[in-house]
Amino acid sequence: MIFEESDTMDDKIRELLKTLPKIDEVLLVLEKDDAFEGVSRDIVVEKCRQIVGEMRKDILGSKKRGEKVSVPCSAVKAAREVRKRLLALHDYSLRRVVNATGIILHTNLGRAPLCGEALKRIIDVSEGYSNLEFNLDKGKRGIRYDHVKEILCCVSGAEDAIIVNNNAAAVLLALNALSEGKEAIVSRGELIEIGGAFRIPEVMEKSGAILREVGTTNRTHFSDYENAVCGDTGLILKVHTSNFKVLGFTDEIGLDELVELGKKKNIPVMNDLGSGCFVPLDKYGFEREPTVQEVLKTGVDVVTFSGDKLLGGPQAGIILGKKRILDKIKENPLNRALRIDKLTLAALEATMMHYLDLDRAVDDVRVLRSLTEPVAGVKKRADELLSILEGLSLKDMTFSIVEEYSMAGGGSLPTQKIPTVVVAVSSHSISPNRLERELRKLEVPIIARICEDKVIFDLRTITEEEFVFMKDGMELIAGVS
Ligand SMILES: *Cc1c(COP(=O)(O)O)cnc(C)c1O
Repeated sequence: MIFEESDTMDDKIRELLKTLPKIDEVLLVLEKDDAFEGVSRDIVVEKCRQIVGEMRKDILGSKKRGEKVSVPCSAVKAAREVRKRLLALHDYSLRRVVNATGIILHTNLGRAPLCGEALKRIIDVSEGYSNLEFNLDKGKRGIRYDHVKEILCCVSGAEDAIIVNNNAAAVLLALNALSEGKEAIVSRGELIEIGGAFRIPEVMEKSGAILREVGTTNRTHFSDYENAVCGDTGLILKVHTSNFKVLGFTDEIGLDELVELGKKKNIPVMNDLGSGCFVPLDKYGFEREPTVQEVLKTGVDVVTFSGDKLLGGPQAGIILGKKRILDKIKENPLNRALRIDKLTLAALEATMMHYLDLDRAVDDVRVLRSLTEPVAGVKKRADELLSILEGLSLKDMTFSIVEEYSMAGGGSLPTQKIPTVVVAVSSHSISPNRLERELRKLEVPIIARICEDKVIFDLRTITEEEFVFMKDGMELIAGVS
């Protein structure tokens, strides 16, 4: 639609608004095309309203934006857009991707991949009914986390276990149950923020516990804790500073000393471990971190950690510790609000079984395998991928092997660089930024990093089974570009 220069803006807008189709007109076009298949009429009507509404807004907005002319609308044009959106409703939004970043616990990419047994258990338990809260021996109501309590206690040495939605929930619940309206003593050096806006001070506030900060950012002494203990103290809390390290002139009080203090003053001591690992990783060249078992041996009352960080299972918050203290947590009404679902429980139980033999867990749990795999194994896979990609003879693309570093991610082992081998892509016709974007658009998206102006695929987080996605994806991109 062409407007004379003399037309006022309002006239143009009025003309354009007249071209907006009626909902019935759009429906008529859609009916002719059989666009209703698989979607009920109400949803189609709603989508038509939405699209026509957006068109109206667009016209009115063109005045505000000071644009000269918007294109006129029509029922056919609206119908085309509705059809596109209806089709998109049938596409899954949550999908599998290939993690080529080398970040093993990538929170944005769903953290830990589950083991085959966990997947199988999810189907077995949820295809039909389950004994989720039914005690088969007694024929009476049972307790949901009893299904994993025995194995968790057996592997960790804890007296009792509670599982909730995630570790943030575990911390919230434990603080509320043990320290609501009372002071929880914590070192300033441990008042951390981890990703996703999880800040220890804010969680404490929501839990009703009163934060009693002691010490300084870099140094906290035993006397700081000792002097803070008073009649109002409900809890002594130690937090793993997961994602950062204070280096240099530092001092922190060990958990064993805090446990001693707690015993003397009759105050429970809690340790938020964040990642929590059962396997001593120093055996595989990492810095020494106490295992969950070692932490519990100190006599600490409560330990919390995530199910989907170094444990390598489903999203969950695991609370281990003394039965007397955990009984208090179980009674708390928040426990019901934060409870774990049956799919997660099934997956967690299957994951935990690998830990009955800690040496095997390192091979069977994918995040541990990725973390501990010798660089020679990664190199072998990189060579294989290189030869597959080179074999495709993709136009304008060359590949090379480069030595790099992977990261644990997920707030675990923050300062530790893990040697790895990557395949780097060079191309004259497609820029690294564009390639990275195209890789994300694939049916099975490949999430890659750019390093020194090249897209790189880190083989530490890519399995051989995933090569087919790399091959098909690269072929498609090279063919199109
Ligand atoms: C990761 C982490 C949390 C939160 O755990 P989610 O399972 O992500 O809820 C809490 N505390 C620490 C120290 C952590 O590292």
